[in-house]
Amino acid sequence: MRSVLLVWVLAFAALSRASGILVVRNLSDIPQDSYGRPGLSHMTVAGAVHHGMKELEVWLQTFAPGSGTPIHRHDCEEIFLVLKGKGTLFLAEPGLEYPGEVLQFHISGNSTMTIPVNSVHQIINTSNEDLQFYVIISRPPIRVFVYRSFLVPHTEAVTHFPYPWDLKTLTS
Ligand code: ZN
Repeated sequence: MRSVLLVWVLAFAALSRASGILVVRNLSDIPQDSYGRPGLSHMTVAGAVHHGMKELEVWLQTFAPGSGTPIHRHDCEEIFLVLKGKGTLFLAEPGLEYPGEVLQFHISGNSTMTIPVNSVHQIINTSNEDLQFYVIISRPPIRVFVYRSFLVPHTEAVTHFPYPWDLKTLTS
């Protein structure tokens, strides 16, 4: 029984290496970087560019007090799972000529937020401690449209593709 199990483990390991995706990885071994954004620590846990994911991608992000995401939208679904900290989610109504009226939601540990496709949004750490969450997106790699404010038309949003963490060569 033990030898059969060993064969399966070896076969599975070989398969995972052949596809370029490691089945089990330690989060401590995955690189983190700010990608030039003050207050950000980003880790691509599993993604399209670096790990060959095709349907979804997972990030672990930490924002220092006062920092946050840009005002942005993307043509994929996005789910946040807040691990710790407190902040505010700003979410605009979809379908208008410009983002316009913005809803505000308080978020904290154990919050989960679901962002509809192409809804303009931003998350800011409004507390005195780190805000940390997992991000799950569909249809990777992500294409992001960044806004100067919620009051500019969608046509003025700047496209970012590939996104910075999909440009940098990572080792894991
Ligand atoms: Zn987003």
